[in-house]
Amino acid sequence: MSSEIESTVGRVAEETVSSALKRYWGFDTFRPLQQEAMECVLSGRDSVVVLPTGGGKSLCFQAPACCLEGLAVVVSPLISLMKDQVDALRSSGVTAAVLNSSLLYSERDAVFDAIRSGALKLLYMAPESLLQEKMLAFLAGVPISLFAIDEAHCISAWGHDFRPEYRDLRTLKERFPGVGLHAYTATATEQVRQDISDQLGLDQPQILVGSFDRPNLHYRVERRRAGLDQIVEVLERHRGESGIIYCISRREVEETSAELNDLGYHTAPYHAGLTDRERHAHQEAFLQERTDIIVATVAFGMGIDKSNVRFVVHAGMPKSLEAYQQESGRAGRDGLEAECVLFFSGRDFFTWQRLLAEGGAQPGAMEALTALDRFCKSPTCRHQGLVEYFGQRWERENCQACDVCLGKVEQVADPLIVAQKILSCVVRLEQGYGADYTAQVLAGSSDQRILERRHDRLSTYGILSAHTKNTIRDWLEQLVGQGCAVKATEYNLVRLTELGWQVLRGEHTPILLQPAPKKSARSTRAATPAPATWEGVDRQLFESLRNLRRELAAQQGVPAYIVFGDASLRDMARRRPTNPVDFLAVHGVGPKKLADYGEKFLAHIQDYIPAEETSLSAD
Ligand code: ADP
Repeated sequence: MSSEIESTVGRVAEETVSSALKRYWGFDTFRPLQQEAMECVLSGRDSVVVLPTGGGKSLCFQAPACCLEGLAVVVSPLISLMKDQVDALRSSGVTAAVLNSSLLYSERDAVFDAIRSGALKLLYMAPESLLQEKMLAFLAGVPISLFAIDEAHCISAWGHDFRPEYRDLRTLKERFPGVGLHAYTATATEQVRQDISDQLGLDQPQILVGSFDRPNLHYRVERRRAGLDQIVEVLERHRGESGIIYCISRREVEETSAELNDLGYHTAPYHAGLTDRERHAHQEAFLQERTDIIVATVAFGMGIDKSNVRFVVHAGMPKSLEAYQQESGRAGRDGLEAECVLFFSGRDFFTWQRLLAEGGAQPGAMEALTALDRFCKSPTCRHQGLVEYFGQRWERENCQACDVCLGKVEQVADPLIVAQKILSCVVRLEQGYGADYTAQVLAGSSDQRILERRHDRLSTYGILSAHTKNTIRDWLEQLVGQGCAVKATEYNLVRLTELGWQVLRGEHTPILLQPAPKKSARSTRAATPAPATWEGVDRQLFESLRNLRRELAAQQGVPAYIVFGDASLRDMARRRPTNPVDFLAVHGVGPKKLADYGEKFLAHIQDYIPAEETSLSAD
């Protein structure tokens, strides 16, 4: 193809998918790599697209499917996710359906009729249903526009969620030669990417890999203290917003949920020990925003697509940075700011160590846990830590969106002296005690055990008494994180490493962090402007539009974000449209949404705006 023709085809394609983007989704611009990914689909070139959660993978095949002739077949592993995706497509005016075993015969027949008549644009199926001989034969008789394999890492034994039935999908290339096959995943590793391509038998695929950074997520990492104060502090910052609190065990889920409810929050628990019906009810309440907060084990979140989760708290440590990326990634999928707070503790580290050992962990599991531990204790930008862990370069100086870069923590002025005091106390204690005990000695505690053992007579007793035991303990953990000391034996006795001895000799200076003094933390907050996404938004109107959205979602039995996402509601509360044309200009509003919801939302806005203001704007 000549380059002129090629660029014309590209331009036509771009116009078509961008108009679909506007017409069905009400979006004006592409997210990074979406346009390139859509061009692959339009031109029929196989592709592997790797974008982080919330990167907008679905649109990469949904928008072209609307522009191409024929049926787009989407393979997805999770039935609940398929249903929500199809509901969301329909609510935007795209004809889509699911075929799975939960359908009644009459419903299946209706789907087949719609396919035969050419009325259906997208069909979602699990691999088992698609690969049945009868189904393949049926599809061979209808025009197919593309195959999209969602959660494509499931095909790779190297991925974290291998599903053997995905392997058989390679037959698609043989049975449907000439139809483009496109794989989408958030899983980052090169090995998995290559494996996806090999297993599916892709033909010279275009590989598109986006940045793994999620700039709209604000990360904060803190050592966990006893009690719920730290969690409550997060909840107070997010009053009335949707969030998930992850705990390691079912018992912790139950206790945390109950205690938070006693404090007046409205939370629901979610874990594998509940009945199917209870789990379903709690999930629905969360999706329809009748419950703001879910307290859950990591079992929660796999099958949900809720775009406006505004915070994710890890009350217990996750088991790896891969898991953390995935779980925290459930926040802010709509691209608006969201907060991810991770609380870590030595106790959780050892719980995981035990669980991994008992469960015959996969190779590399211990290293992955250690990498997470290091991430928690390191003084580097959190965005940088995550992005570099996944093998990408970090080029920004200050992310403006993590505790380290925002100065919620600051560097200790004389880290070498502080580190030497701590490590020499470890040596004076003959490397025979744990971190907590060592910190108590340094703080000058008059704990009975310390006095009995005469450790109050050590030269290092109380040499850091100007600081709290918790702060000293934190520093000690940071020294462990930076490899200056290790915790040995089943009792976690602190021992020096070669690097630790170098610190004592003054040959190596570690970095030590401490929370910024309260005053400066407050002034930082005061100096931090509200995120730009709130600019010009009438917050009271936003809240009242949320209530309307909640009512409509409950009436229709669909997740609230399917009615409108937070970005749309904020834009509505910014523009305050009073007529259909202005309503159509709102982010995320296309003709279908205007037809379905315009009247109700316009009336609501009309009622909200004081009468004289509307008459003024009418003048
Ligand atoms: P992923 O599958 O990569 O996790 P999704 O496809 O679910 O991400 O998209 C995440 C969110 O981003 C959804 O709410 C979607 O509507 C929104 N989104 C996707 N593309 C765009 C875009 N070009 N402009 C605005 N919002 C978008």
